[in-house]
Amino acid sequence: MNNYQALFDRQYNYYFDGNTRDLKGRIDSIRSLGNELSRYEKQINEAIYLDLGKSKFELFTTEIASVQHEINWLSSRLRRWTRPIKVRTNLVNMPGRSRIIIEPYGNTLIIGTWNYPFLLNLKPAVSALAAGNPVIIKPSEHSPHSSEIMAKIITAAMPEVRCSVVLGGVPEVTELLKLPFEKIFFTGSTSVGKMVMKAAAENLASVSLELGGKSPAIVFPDAVQPVTAKRIVWGKFLNAGQTCIAPDYILVHESVAQNLIDNMAVQIVSMYGPDPARSGSYGRIIDQRHFDRLVCFIDPAKTVVGGTHNREDLFISPTILYPVSFSDPVMQEEIFGPVLPIIPYSNIEDAVKKIKSMPKPLALYVFTQSVKEQDAILSSVSFGGGCINDTVMHMANSYLPFGGVGPSGSGRYHGRSGILEFSNQKSVINKATWIDPFIRYPPFTALKEKILRKLL
Ligand code: NAD
Repeated sequence: MNNYQALFDRQYNYYFDGNTRDLKGRIDSIRSLGNELSRYEKQINEAIYLDLGKSKFELFTTEIASVQHEINWLSSRLRRWTRPIKVRTNLVNMPGRSRIIIEPYGNTLIIGTWNYPFLLNLKPAVSALAAGNPVIIKPSEHSPHSSEIMAKIITAAMPEVRCSVVLGGVPEVTELLKLPFEKIFFTGSTSVGKMVMKAAAENLASVSLELGGKSPAIVFPDAVQPVTAKRIVWGKFLNAGQTCIAPDYILVHESVAQNLIDNMAVQIVSMYGPDPARSGSYGRIIDQRHFDRLVCFIDPAKTVVGGTHNREDLFISPTILYPVSFSDPVMQEEIFGPVLPIIPYSNIEDAVKKIKSMPKPLALYVFTQSVKEQDAILSSVSFGGGCINDTVMHMANSYLPFGGVGPSGSGRYHGRSGILEFSNQKSVINKATWIDPFIRYPPFTALKEKILRKLL
């Protein structure tokens, strides 16, 4: 017997009996989660600090405030967004009325990761709950302090039939994935995303994948300084580079490469001081395995900024490598840490061709004042989302759907798109009975065919 079958069944029965459909109950549950998040703020701070060494300011803005914002945003708009959507009815269906009914999928599994433990588990959970689904959350085993507090918060906020946290790692996920969930929402690596999709195929569950990859930033010669350097440094070294949409590498026109590096060096000192190891605003690497992986990328011959590290403290300073080529080891996989390779280019067409030949990234950033250059990139390169003249901030706009494409993921959430991602859109035509055109019914005659051809 599957360890989680009983919990799954209780949630299924709760959903089956219609308990998750009531709009007020859904709003109450996410608001209750918001209240518990506020009540547990001190413990959350301590837990995330123990897991990732994040500063109080950073974790408040990127984790707690972001989830609270989503709760408020959805609570005030849910009624409007879940109303049936009236659409036009085509000629062959006249007279009739057509609409799309937004309904919950049912049992939902959210598998999360560790880099923003609260944001990346609770933000999708808020969407799923608001959409009317019972939810099981499986947070990452690599951020154990955060996962434990999250389990307490969820237990305090609502009954387990509405939402429950399962702690554990690979064996627990493997067991959970055997259950016939209607919806699976996974955040993590592309390789595990493939496993999740295969397992979901067994039950034909609807799957959303929020994956990673190498997200480029392209810096043109006319990029405005120092704001370009400042925004790249901020987006890259936030959470010690462990951000899925951080710029993974920079492609910069060779004529301004040195200027960009000089500006970034100044910005690193301005944000983290002369010794980032002593900065209260700079985080740590999640564990020694990731630390060792990242240190291997630091080629001393190419290190132009930073490069210092301390395994005991899981500290790696903000590091810039230059000049890097696409064949360097650091360009062979997603970095996911505070190491920033700079690749100079001389011809933008060649640079864009190279990006297009690589797996479609989760994010892309363009720094130029030229609308023509911005449009050329936006219209030719496929990616999940991004910014012009900034990094990361597209994820902070609830009007913008968030997600990847192909190897960087599928599906979208945040704001209204989160409600739709966790809902079945049921299409219904309501037909009048006072008229019933004979034409569609057998026997099919030449006259009927003639009329039909005219109509279609
Ligand atoms: P991961 O894929 O190793 O782990 C994610 C989850 O999958 C965890 O809950 C873990 O327990 C589970 N898992 C791990 N191995 C498994 C296996 N063999 N079978 C079943 N379950 C398994 O990813 P990670 O190292 O935790 O996260 C880093 C990756 O996540 C990076 O690629 C990053 O870009 C990506 N990411 C993406 C987003 C996004 O929103 N798109 C956000 C954060 C991180």
